[in-house]
Amino acid sequence: MGKSVAELKFNFGPMGCGKTIDLLRAAYSYEEKGLEVAIMKPAVDTKANQNIQSRIDGFERSVNYLICPGCNILEVIRRKFSKVSCVIIDEAQFLSAEQIDQLRAVTLRLGIPVTCYGLRTDRFGELFPGSTRLLAIADRLVEMDTICECGSKATMTGCFVDGKFTTKGANGAGQVLIDGATEARYVALCPRCHADYTNGVYGKEVL
Ligand SMILES: [Zn+2]
Repeated sequence: MGKSVAELKFNFGPMGCGKTIDLLRAAYSYEEKGLEVAIMKPAVDTKANQNIQSRIDGFERSVNYLICPGCNILEVIRRKFSKVSCVIIDEAQFLSAEQIDQLRAVTLRLGIPVTCYGLRTDRFGELFPGSTRLLAIADRLVEMDTICECGSKATMTGCFVDGKFTTKGANGAGQVLIDGATEARYVALCPRCHADYTNGVYGKEVL
């Protein structure tokens, strides 16, 4: 018989699909049984500082650890959180591939399950480093649905800066543009609406 492996799970979806409220619910389901969880997020996410805040109900709680770029998450968990029943990562798309591999090692070497929440793609429809690695190696992939403004299933995230839709080369800052740090507004879009907005920026059919 094979040994059981603690699960590495990736819950992904566009902005506004309820990732945060699900994360808070997941943490609560452990804590109401008297079990401890460690909630972490990348330090690059300056939104709400050390807090995790749901857009749906405004509920928030503080995170246990902010992950800096280059930080070895396996070592942090080994040193500070080795007794927890679950590690929960918010905004996992911002982690490096190496850090995702360290989370894999947390499940294998420490036997602690890890649940990651994050975006699959950026506002241009391209994968983030953390999401790329999670899609490759997670034991369980859970797609979280939400609805586009047109009523179709939204799989993409679009970004409006000062009311203008942003695409690559047009308002195209880097991949990381944190909500609240500028006048950026992120919305969940279906591929059709994302393409229509993109074509509108260029004034021709590029998608
Ligand atoms: Zn749509």
